[in-house]
Amino acid sequence: MKFDKFTYTNLHRIQELLGGPECGLDMLPSTEMFEQEVDLAKLDSISQYLKEYHLMTKEEMPEGVVSGVKFLTWNFNCPLFLANFQKHLAAAGVTFERSKIDHISSVFSPSVDAVFNCTGIGAASLGGVSDENVFPTRGQVVVVRAPHIKENRFRWRPNSDTYVIPRPFSDGSIVMGGFFQEGNWSGNTYGYETEDILKRGLELFPEIGKRSELKIIREAAGLRPSRKGGVRIEVERFDQVNGKDRFIVHNYGASGYGYQSGLGMANEATDLYFEATKCFKQKFPRNHRSHRM
Ligand SMILES: Cc1cc2nc3c(=O)[nH]c(=O)nc-3n(C[C@H](O)[C@H](O)[C@H](O)COP(=O)(O)OP(=O)(O)OC[C@H]3O[C@@H](n4cnc5c(N)ncnc54)[C@H](O)[C@@H]3O)c2cc1C
Repeated sequence: MKFDKFTYTNLHRIQELLGGPECGLDMLPSTEMFEQEVDLAKLDSISQYLKEYHLMTKEEMPEGVVSGVKFLTWNFNCPLFLANFQKHLAAAGVTFERSKIDHISSVFSPSVDAVFNCTGIGAASLGGVSDENVFPTRGQVVVVRAPHIKENRFRWRPNSDTYVIPRPFSDGSIVMGGFFQEGNWSGNTYGYETEDILKRGLELFPEIGKRSELKIIREAAGLRPSRKGGVRIEVERFDQVNGKDRFIVHNYGASGYGYQSGLGMANEATDLYFEATKCFKQKFPRNHRSHRM
């Protein structure tokens, strides 16, 4: 919750840094509906910071829904946003190297002060980490062309969720989902899951159009990096070189909320690192060479 709040209330700074909503990050209206009772205290707490928050009345809710909220939320066009973010970081002096790491100790070359371990599902098998609490929650999504859809809609039910999320500054793509399959390691996509997603999505949001007229751009499956006990954000002392401690900063386990809470998680991870090293936290530290995996 605290990571969600930090992310929600600070993402505008990233948006500004990257030149505005065209970077692939914008705010759109969202409606979330629940088929089972939700924690009203939790709703009350998020209502304090969500923009244009509104608790739906009985009249506004469709059959089968017991509670619902409307608010403005952040929408990522992930491929566009990540490309722009990388470009920004590269211009600020961050270098990127891509390789598969078998053991976390292998990235501690002599010039490295700290390693931020953001390996997601990889934390389950990475040598030196091998976190047995990490497990996949498989999802499948269908990307559909529907430029007239400018808002998010979610319907949550036990063991299932149906959602429609527009991709800002795309060719009019919306992401339709989904599935939450805990423990399923398959990265395959299945035609019957696509049909199920489309059926549920069109019931939820009939304005998208008719099934027979939909232009499907892509079907994709992914593994949410889940973790028993929740996220792991923790500093571990790795060794000491010339009297100076070197650290691993773990930051993984975001499950299905990495975009929603990632900025808050990263902020916590860097706070812990600067606390451990007693360094002053700069806005954009440039002197520390660190690896993010
Ligand atoms: C279908 C689906 C829908 C989702 N919808 C949403 C949503 O609506 N909102 C939301 O907030 N989140 C959503 N998520 C979750 C979100 O994508 C994740 O929480 C987020 O990507 C986690 O970010 P991360 O950086 O921790 O891990 P990842 O994005 O998984 O990145 C980990 C990186 O580490 C690398 N790595 C791992 N092991 C090694 C190794 N040994 N050597 C080198 N590199 C390694 C991987 O290659 C990867 O690049 C969704 C996920 C899925 C699958």
